[in-house]
This record gives sequence, structure tokens and C-alpha cells, in this order.
Amino acid sequence: MSSQDAFFVQTFYSGTAALKLRVARELQERYGPAMTACPEIQEGLAQLHDRARALEAHMQSMQLGRLCRSCATQTGGGCCSASMADNTDSIMLLTNLLLGIEVHRQPHHGENCCYLGAQGCLFAIKPFFCLTYNCTHILTSADSLSLAGLYQQAGAVMGQQGRLEALLLAAISHGRREQGSS
Ligand code: SF4
Ligand code: SF4
Repeated sequence: MSSQDAFFVQTFYSGTAALKLRVARELQERYGPAMTACPEIQEGLAQLHDRARALEAHMQSMQLGRLCRSCATQTGGGCCSASMADNTDSIMLLTNLLLGIEVHRQPHHGENCCYLGAQGCLFAIKPFFCLTYNCTHILTSADSLSLAGLYQQAGAVMGQQGRLEALLLAAISHGRREQGSS
């Protein structure tokens, strides 16, 4: 691993949820204007947002919102628990900020994920773990065609998220070089 890769892993993908959000805000402040001016990044963001919306629409067609709301009221609650916020990373948080999402940790979130708002998850682009998590309630209630669609659409989001992540990391590397950082 190069020293820059090690720096990225250490800085963007580890630490507490609060620290990762602080780093994401610093990245937005420092590199956001150049990212906003980059057509490739803007196109990547637009494609990712479209795919995330298509996945959301598919999930709604499967009535997953209703299933999750009902699950969350049962003993033990839903799966958006406090520790899940650790699955965020600064690049995924930066992606949401670049899309204009108001990313704020919810005060008094208690046992819930700090990004679970009154209307559900705050993010347009969720952590990979949340995207791929299909619990037994979902697996047993959905028909195979809907599930296949869910996997396909989630895969399309993750693929585009990975491509955009590479573009954002390259833009950060470029900015760091220009600023004389190693
Ligand atoms: S994904 Fe599954 S465990 Fe999580 S809230 Fe929905 S139904 Fe419940
Ligand atoms: S889906 Fe959103 S609210 Fe739920 S655990 Fe993941 S990040 Fe948190």
C-alpha cells in the first residue's frame, strides 16, 4: 500500500462516525469547488443519484418502507441501530454533501443510528453495508422476481458509487499535490 493509500484509509475510512463527518465537511470545504467544476464528477454524481432513486422506487414497489416501519416498532426494533453509523466513511458522506443532502447527526438518537431521521435514513447515498443488508423479513416476504430486481438495482448503485469514489479520491490526490502535501 502506498503512503497515500495508507493516509486515505486512515483518514477517510476509520474513526468514529462524528470524526468521519468532520473530515467529510473539511473535504467539501477544501475540494468541493473543484469537484463541482469537474464535468466528470458532476456526471458521476448525477448517474449515481439516478440509480439510487431507481433503487428507492423499487424498494417502495416492494412495500419495504411499510415492512421496516412495522419492524421498527417490535421488540428489538429495526436494523438501523446506533452501531450502524460506523459503516459510514468520509467519501460516502462527502458524496451526500455534494448532492446537497443536509447531513447532520441526529441529537438524542439513543439506540438508533444517528442518521435515522423522522422520515427514515437521511442519506441519498447509503453506506455499502446498508445497501446490501437484506434481513430475513425481506427475504421471506418478497417474491423471487422482486428480490432479483433488488439485487440488480443495488448492484448498479454500488458499481456507480465505486466509480465515483475513485474519481473523488483522484480529485483529492490532485488537490493535495497542488497544495504540496505528500
Ligand atoms: S431491513 Fe429488515 S430488520 Fe431492518 S427495519 Fe427493515 S424489516 Fe426490519
Ligand atoms: S440505512 Fe441509514 S439510518 Fe439506517 S443504518 Fe444505514 S445509514 Fe443509518
